[in-house]
Amino acid sequence: MTRPHTKHGLHPVSRLMERIEVDFDSGCWLFTGPLNGTGYVIVPGFDSKSERGHRLTYQFFRGPVPPGLVLDHLCRVRHCLNPYHLEPVTQGENVRRGARCNAGLAPYRTDVKEIQ
Ligand SMILES: [Zn+2]
Repeated sequence: MTRPHTKHGLHPVSRLMERIEVDFDSGCWLFTGPLNGTGYVIVPGFDSKSERGHRLTYQFFRGPVPPGLVLDHLCRVRHCLNPYHLEPVTQGENVRRGARCNAGLAPYRTDVKEIQ
């Protein structure tokens, strides 16, 4: 038995969408509310469980996250909730990309295919 709404009666994604500012240069959907200690959006999801905001928007607009995968921010903006800036990857790949970003290399772009 799952409840479609939280105790506030509003869909979790609706509450997120009310607090987004779109950056028209990057296309990022920037969350204007509070962030957790590592810069992510944490909100009450379904059944009052805490959920990362970008997981909610991804699942709502694009569908389920494949089992075992995490969502990588291609734009490297942790509080961005644009579901099209997210890609499901393995945890190892996510860490590898983060290291690349920390090394000052160009972030990944969705329109560029990486050569394996
Ligand atoms: Zn973004």
